[in-house]
Amino acid sequence: MIQSYKKSPKLAEAYDAILIGTGIGCLCAGALLSKTGKKVLLLERHYTAGGFTHVFKRKGFEWDVGIHYIGEVQRPNSVLRKLFDYVSDKELQWDDMGEIYDRVILGNKQYDFVKGVDNFKSKMGEYFPNEKEAIERYINLIFAANKAASKFYIDKALPKMTSALLGKYMRKKYLKYSDRTTYDVLSELTKDETLIKVLCGQYGDYGLPPKQSSFAMHASVAKHYMQGGSVPAKGSSEILNTIEKVIEKGGGTILVRAEVDKIIVKNNKVKGVKLTDGNCFYAQTIISGTGIFNTFENLLPSDVIYSHKLNEKLRKVSPSVGYGCLYIGLNGSPEDLKLPKTNLWIYPDDLDHDGCVERFLNNNKTEFPLVYISFPSAKFSDWNERYPGKSTIDIITMIPYEAFAKWDGTAWKKRGEAYEIKKEEFAQRLLQHLFKQLPQLKGKVELYEFSTPLTAKHFSNYKQGALYGIDHNPKRFRQKFLRPKTKIKGLYLTGQDIVTAGVGAALFSGLITASAITGINFIKRIFK
Ligand SMILES: Cc1cc2nc3c(=O)[nH]c(=O)nc-3n(C[C@H](O)[C@H](O)[C@H](O)COP(=O)(O)OP(=O)(O)OC[C@H]3O[C@@H](n4cnc5c(N)ncnc54)[C@H](O)[C@@H]3O)c2cc1C
Repeated sequence: MIQSYKKSPKLAEAYDAILIGTGIGCLCAGALLSKTGKKVLLLERHYTAGGFTHVFKRKGFEWDVGIHYIGEVQRPNSVLRKLFDYVSDKELQWDDMGEIYDRVILGNKQYDFVKGVDNFKSKMGEYFPNEKEAIERYINLIFAANKAASKFYIDKALPKMTSALLGKYMRKKYLKYSDRTTYDVLSELTKDETLIKVLCGQYGDYGLPPKQSSFAMHASVAKHYMQGGSVPAKGSSEILNTIEKVIEKGGGTILVRAEVDKIIVKNNKVKGVKLTDGNCFYAQTIISGTGIFNTFENLLPSDVIYSHKLNEKLRKVSPSVGYGCLYIGLNGSPEDLKLPKTNLWIYPDDLDHDGCVERFLNNNKTEFPLVYISFPSAKFSDWNERYPGKSTIDIITMIPYEAFAKWDGTAWKKRGEAYEIKKEEFAQRLLQHLFKQLPQLKGKVELYEFSTPLTAKHFSNYKQGALYGIDHNPKRFRQKFLRPKTKIKGLYLTGQDIVTAGVGAALFSGLITASAITGINFIKRIFK
């Protein structure tokens, strides 16, 4: 554990930059600024830092919250790996998940997503022998969309004038992909609805089914994992542990239990932040990594919100759906219990993805539209040294905030019996899915705990416990205000809302934010 969590860190009154939140976007921006000699302070409202990269422990078990696999990092020269290496001083290492990273299960049929583009193509070709041409065209489109993405995101870091001159051309190509829904694009390639359902089998990674999601987001996730998945070696907490060292080396500090109440703005210029405990810290640069709704609705003074019509901007985006996660602790090592490394994506086979979501959102007692099962303990190479004789499983599903809304406002762990009963109903339904897939686990579960959208809201501060910040629909990619620089002098944004959800994307948001602030081309630096 990091020193500053054990004893009170030495604090100054003023910093070069203050970052609100400690998600991976802020950690990355904080480390990059530290490496340029800036003194940074990161403020986190939670009792632990890291945002969705944090881990938590109960009764001798440890679970990840927002990391089950990360793509691209197994390639030593990928931008993502280089960036992780740079912000962690090469301390962060990775454990590879192996040949099959995802398995899509539709009723009794299984479809494996295998590592490597050619392997992926030929595996899909085995499942759908009449669709080989469509699969080939699908892969080509995925790569074309990702190629167009770089200019779109570089534009976000450009100064106002340059972006006004060049931005339209830099965004144009990507918008051709992002303006269309995933289903629109895929249904032009094939009429085989099962193939479409399988290819969209990772939609849980971005929260929206194919008729609502932007194809750009689908393409980004599909390509991201196509070379396989990895997890941080020695546990996901290593992300924070390694990056925090870089921040501290640069004279920066991460402070937990430090909730920002308001950003102090005078004459349209940021001056600092006021915490909920009344303490103030000052800086000419403030970066918010708390999400666009938190920043524009809650952290800014109301006169600033209205003078820049930020409330109107927010009407153009919507928070993503809420989620529930069943955290399970089991007796036995991953080997004893025969746990796979592969993530399971289980879907009903009677409807398309959109139909399944609609049915469930109308009536939560109907079949879950998706059940995602991840086996973290099987993925970490040193798990048995850290937790001998134990294993963990996470099961995630979509849960609308409305299902638990009536308990909003009650305190965590004290929401009452009716809330606990409802949680238990969801937990039992998810356990049935687990036992259907891995019957050997019956009788091996030592404990479980179900989190609701209220739990997510409590810990992450996202409006209505949103799974992935704002929705990844085509409209989102059209919003020019989702960029680091704001109209308030000195105020910058970072995190998943300005790029997309995903640890890699949110990490990258830190890079474009640091570039927008300093004018430095960090891509050049990380490849040096
Ligand atoms: C269940 C789940 C599973 C996921 N699985 C994966 C996966 O397998 N692979 C992958 O790549 N991605 C995954 N993701 C997505 C990924 O974790 C996120 O997209 C990413 O971590 C978001 O990072 P961020 O920088 O936007 O900040 P966040 O991690 O969202 O952090 C924001 C931080 O701001 C803090 N904060 C909010 N308000 C204040 C305030 N007023 N004052 C101080 N601090 C404040 C919050 O407490 C939080 O720590 C998953 C997400 C979820 C929810």
